[in-house]
Amino acid sequence: MSKLRIDLHAHSNASDGTESPSELVKQANDAGIDVVAITDHDTLAGWGEAITAANYRGTNLIPGLELSTAIQGRSVHIVSYLVDPEFEPLQQELETIRMARFNRAQVIIENLQSQYDIVWEQVLLHAPPGAVVGRPHIADTLVELGYASDRSAAFHEILHPDFGFTIPLYAPDPVRGISLIRDAGGVPVLAHPAANRFGRTIPQSDLARLVDAGLFGLEIEHPENFDIGKKRLYEMAQYFGLAVTGSSDWHGTGKTNRFGDGLTEQPVLDQILREGNTDQAILNTYRG
Ligand code: AMP
Ligand code: ZN
Ligand code: FE
Ligand code: FE
Repeated sequence: MSKLRIDLHAHSNASDGTESPSELVKQANDAGIDVVAITDHDTLAGWGEAITAANYRGTNLIPGLELSTAIQGRSVHIVSYLVDPEFEPLQQELETIRMARFNRAQVIIENLQSQYDIVWEQVLLHAPPGAVVGRPHIADTLVELGYASDRSAAFHEILHPDFGFTIPLYAPDPVRGISLIRDAGGVPVLAHPAANRFGRTIPQSDLARLVDAGLFGLEIEHPENFDIGKKRLYEMAQYFGLAVTGSSDWHGTGKTNRFGDGLTEQPVLDQILREGNTDQAILNTYRG
């Protein structure tokens, strides 16, 4: 049997992807992905539709999320798989983060109003009802208004923190985030850990805290990780005994990342299935 293509990080329009959860599943399938994960920012709202689509197509889906956390205002994303969706403390923390995102987006709009003709209602039109609001929706609004040529340009030219409009998002410490994910029966992985400027990775002392809290792995094969940081990450994965994952971080047309731009090895998925709530996994053809 040929090697399976396993891509464990993708966003739908339940957060800041451009396509619906069912379209995410369809496009992953069309791109030859055997197992895909839906990992929207701070919400499980896309799970139901994605699960229906995966069963309809007879494909394999790992339901997950990308949890926002932060260390001293610097954002740290924890991509997480197979949590119990009913686990109350996680639901509560997600609700708190979503409220913080909503309020933050409104502050960013107020800040932008000093130089741009933009109103909050325009941003809401760029997010489906109930979607987790993020800077990408503000970016899309700036594009519509003619202030930037595309989402990425809006990030680089207007929404980058250096320009003073963007403020940090409230988010829990990653130690708390990782503990919550484990308590919910999920499997936490540090997302794109070398995607910062110059590929600077998380300091080893911080990583040690995350490992103690139950971190499962490092998402090293991610298209936005810089090579210099990846080398260091492979050393740290070895040192701490962490798993290595690979993913595309697909956002539909909202990012240039394509399905398969990062892939996870099958034994790592098998370990995720052993450590997570296996009953949440939708496995129509995959046999671990
Ligand atoms: P936020 O969650 O509001 O802080 O916004 C971060 C989101 O914006 C992440 O999902 C990123 O994938 C996305 N993002 C960051 N930079 C860019 C970019 N240059 N082009 C498109 N999306 C981006
Ligand atoms: Zn995103
Ligand atoms: Fe992320
Ligand atoms: Fe992501």
